[in-house]
Amino acid sequence: MSYVEEVYAKLEEKHAYEPEFLEAAKRILETITPIVEANEDLYRKNSLLERLVEPERIITFRVPWVDDQGKQQVNLGYRVQFNSAIGPYKGGLRFHPSVNQSILKFLGFEQIFKNSLTGLPIGGGKGGSDFDPKGKSDAEVMRFCQSFMTELFKYIGADEDVPAGDIGVGGREIGYLYGQYKRITNLYEGVLTGKGLSFGGSLARPEATGYGLVYITNEVVKGTGKSLEGKTVVVSGSGNVAQYAIQKAQQLGAKPVTCSDSNGYVYDPDGIKLDVVFDIKQGHRGRIKEYVEKVPTAQYFEGQKPWGVKCDIALPCATQNEINGEDAKTLIANGCWCVCEGANMPSDADAIDAYEKARVESGFLYMPAKAANAGGVAVSALEMSQNSERLSWTFDEVDEKLKGIMAGIYSKVSTAAKKYGHEGDFVAGANIAGFEKVADAMLAQGNV
Ligand code: NDP
Repeated sequence: MSYVEEVYAKLEEKHAYEPEFLEAAKRILETITPIVEANEDLYRKNSLLERLVEPERIITFRVPWVDDQGKQQVNLGYRVQFNSAIGPYKGGLRFHPSVNQSILKFLGFEQIFKNSLTGLPIGGGKGGSDFDPKGKSDAEVMRFCQSFMTELFKYIGADEDVPAGDIGVGGREIGYLYGQYKRITNLYEGVLTGKGLSFGGSLARPEATGYGLVYITNEVVKGTGKSLEGKTVVVSGSGNVAQYAIQKAQQLGAKPVTCSDSNGYVYDPDGIKLDVVFDIKQGHRGRIKEYVEKVPTAQYFEGQKPWGVKCDIALPCATQNEINGEDAKTLIANGCWCVCEGANMPSDADAIDAYEKARVESGFLYMPAKAANAGGVAVSALEMSQNSERLSWTFDEVDEKLKGIMAGIYSKVSTAAKKYGHEGDFVAGANIAGFEKVADAMLAQGNV
């Protein structure tokens, strides 16, 4: 049994009740096998993998709050402080009824490698609650956030653990959480990111994930001697990531022709008119089908995803598992030669297998989310830097840094893949490159 297999077998035995975490750990451990085999004696002697797969700490707590009817409610709160080898724990808070320890461990584990890839000094963590903000009043959300922070504040800090938003935690929630942290600790410090501009937020944070996605897509495409100029792009989603991915793709000369929401997708053969999307989504939180009322030459497909549209490049920017094996095969059969992921885990295991087959057969390009959407957390780390400096950088300063970070990620990913005999395999490259830095730091810091 190899070292990786041994560690995974023990993990499976110990955490049999955590399927999401086990799945993530298995995928990552498998892809870092080449670097583990190259350093097996050193890693074994230092129990490196055994330590890597266990969080440094998991904090679980109850969150009591009172609803608008005066009834006392209780939710569960969590913070998984997974790995602080290269910096303070960093990762979002998710408020969603599906939240449990397994999912947060899975997300926290992935976050270690994503954060490492940015080249910035941030460790990996994740947290949240099974609270569902949907359908709650502002006052209920505020009371919940205050109660959540009344416990969480003991374990976080600007140099200790810096949470951000995630599903169900946007600007409103970050504001309430920050207010309560400040009230309890009397500290005005960068303990959360994704803050409003008036209280320490960073310019270009809203754009960061979408812009970063297109910056790295540009690098991937350039790596094969091509350019984004004139390329047809299929985008899913019409939220934060999708909107700014469309904007940057247009600025770099590509033509995004679709966007979607959970009801269906819009196809505009002349190119998506972003002002119309902004008006629908940012203006009045409307549905994407309204697009065709404003642009009659476009078409709307209720209940469908855009993967049947002919394109060069696909940028999934909506949600997890939105591309299955059949969708991936359809994309490839229609001439798509590149997928870069804006959403987290948008491609399921069968889709990834289809990309890999196409990569081996015909050089298909696939950049996984861990590398492709790291622009969001990278600019969150830049928000931490600005908070520490007590300065605010201009939009262009942040954007330039983001561009450099995404180019750096591409370079690390492709170099690591090549170094360990998997040239062009960006999944292996991203995991290996992310792991390499964390492993070095863990070895240097001893058995902690
Ligand atoms: P938003 O909530 O702003 O937008 C999500 C978009 O995806 C909406 O258009 C939404 O439609 C659509 N969508 C959601 N669920 C489904 C579904 N089941 N089927 C089809 N469409 C769906 O989120 P973001 O743009 O911020 O995030 C999108 C993805 O990117 C997520 O996976 C997120 O984890 C990831 N991500 C985001 C980062 C960020 O900085 N924002 C950073 C890194 C990753 P509808 O309005 O109908 O729900």
